[in-house]
Amino acid sequence: MKQEGLEREGEIITPHGKVRTPVFMPVGTRGSVKALSWEDMRDLGTEIVLGNTYHLHLKPGEDLVAEMGGLQKWTGWQGPMLTDSGGFQVWSLGQWRDKRGRKMVEIDEDGVRFKSHLDGSWHKFTPEVAVEIQRKLGADIIMIFDQCTGDEVSWQEAKLAMERTHRWAKRAKDYWEAKRRLSTQGRYQALFGIIQGGKYEDLRKESAKFMIEMGFDGIAIGGESIGYNMERTKEIIGWLRELLPRDKPLYTMGVGSNPGDIKVMRELGVDMMDCVAPTRQARNGALFHPSYPKWRLNIGKQEFARDERVIYENCGCAVCRAGYSRAYLHHLYRVGELSYYRYASIHNLWMMINWR
Ligand SMILES: [Zn+2]
Repeated sequence: MKQEGLEREGEIITPHGKVRTPVFMPVGTRGSVKALSWEDMRDLGTEIVLGNTYHLHLKPGEDLVAEMGGLQKWTGWQGPMLTDSGGFQVWSLGQWRDKRGRKMVEIDEDGVRFKSHLDGSWHKFTPEVAVEIQRKLGADIIMIFDQCTGDEVSWQEAKLAMERTHRWAKRAKDYWEAKRRLSTQGRYQALFGIIQGGKYEDLRKESAKFMIEMGFDGIAIGGESIGYNMERTKEIIGWLRELLPRDKPLYTMGVGSNPGDIKVMRELGVDMMDCVAPTRQARNGALFHPSYPKWRLNIGKQEFARDERVIYENCGCAVCRAGYSRAYLHHLYRVGELSYYRYASIHNLWMMINWR
């Protein structure tokens, strides 16, 4: 490990290869990073890809993935992978109502029952089920099932959710140990704990101490505000700085929405980050460029129709290197050409992974 200030460089060794940190992990929600091939991902310098347990459980289902030899064998991505536990997705679903105005999520001490956003069928995640699904998916790093909380919950509500997350963390760890920490394909899976506690300093500190004492392979910081509210994210990391172990990876879940966020996190000693925003913004016409507000060069604007320059002159992505002009990308975006999604995603992800 190399260190400068709080920023540090390290390596995570997994059964599918090394992950050099600090690292931004592109999100392959349903077993694919939207619009891109694995060859594209390799060319971008991707170290590790994230998959979503919630989405993969609904389709195609973890049993099929296991039957196909696990995520890497099934998808063809041969590098390291991480799966989340579904805690965040289930929490998001809890904010929705179905067509008749009914809740889509029921939480009790055992776990969470939820209605699929795809077909309305009911499913149940418990701490044990979430580990078992992730064992079948076979990623190299897996996450405990947590009870996420929104930004605006009271101290009392945040405390109850945090305490439940702690009880669930213990159950997940017991289950993981009973399964000898192995995927159903027989490979080691690192298990990470998740710090909750909302926007409350005392709760965040209590949660950090708990997760550190549990001895997980890595520590994540979760909750609604992480990533979406960078000021609060920085504040929370500041509260925990002294408590966090220096010898384990620190992962902020859901950061960042542009390359600047990644720089800020690196400088605070964060090792791992992920976010769907860069590829989503790409598809919506926002291409990363440091000189534009919030990094967004909105390629759909008329001013780019005759602009011969590449998206960003200092970008090393395949699209900028090949000389694709803003004028051409503007046209592809405006007419909805499928190739636009690939070019835009390549540029934004390259910036997230490589911009310094
Ligand atoms: Zn580029």
